[in-house]
Amino acid sequence: MGTLSAVGLQANASKDFAEKLTNTQAVLKDALLTHAHITQASSLGAEDVVITHLLESLKAKLGLQAFPADVFVLNTGKLHAETLTLLAQSQATSSLAWRVFEPVQEQAIHFVKTNGELAMRESLELRKACCHIRKVEPLGRALAGYSAWMTGMRAEQSAARADVHAVDTTDAKITKYNPLVDWTWGDVLHYIVENNVPYNALHDKFYPSIGCEPCTRAVSLGEDFRAGRWWWESKDGESAKECGLHVKA
Ligand code: SF4
Repeated sequence: MGTLSAVGLQANASKDFAEKLTNTQAVLKDALLTHAHITQASSLGAEDVVITHLLESLKAKLGLQAFPADVFVLNTGKLHAETLTLLAQSQATSSLAWRVFEPVQEQAIHFVKTNGELAMRESLELRKACCHIRKVEPLGRALAGYSAWMTGMRAEQSAARADVHAVDTTDAKITKYNPLVDWTWGDVLHYIVENNVPYNALHDKFYPSIGCEPCTRAVSLGEDFRAGRWWWESKDGESAKECGLHVKA
């Protein structure tokens, strides 16, 4: 992880980064002490490796008899090789338990047979249908039995995420924690570099947002963080660059 990498070059902490980090640790600690079963959704992107690292540190520090948090990944069957490599590495080295959820194979195969490999680029309806099979349905299985989950959503990521809160109780059945809500991209990468956290090699190829291979591309300087997701769709409107995992009812 040399300082000349794209990640090293963008690792610029905000002036109030120390305060943000303290707040994030407090949010996570409170979540861990409140919930008996809490899970982290990880795309293996930069924000998520930071949260996993913070959880691992808290696990060592809190010394709870039964640590309440684990990590889950939705392996859609369309992830980049770089993401799968980091997943294997994380499973082998993490002090946390990892769960991996895949789509119902019959549904995924049927969808491709009926609509083609790149159907998601043909219409919003087909894209959402693919996301439902590969992400939304497996997410339901991943969250079953948990009273809370954690995500790496940040307010800065897009206009659609501007009203994200650190603790979201909109859904009475499950609390959602977004502990990096006020972190900048520079803060996230600063934490990774400072703590030598293994990260997704795609970030050094200018992918800020990690997703499925057919639906994610690198972005240029100045582009919105989520511009590389479903880039053929309109920036505004119904789709709003989300896959259904974080859409409010
Ligand atoms: S991001 Fe693309 S490939 Fe992945 S589930 Fe959604 S439409 Fe399918």
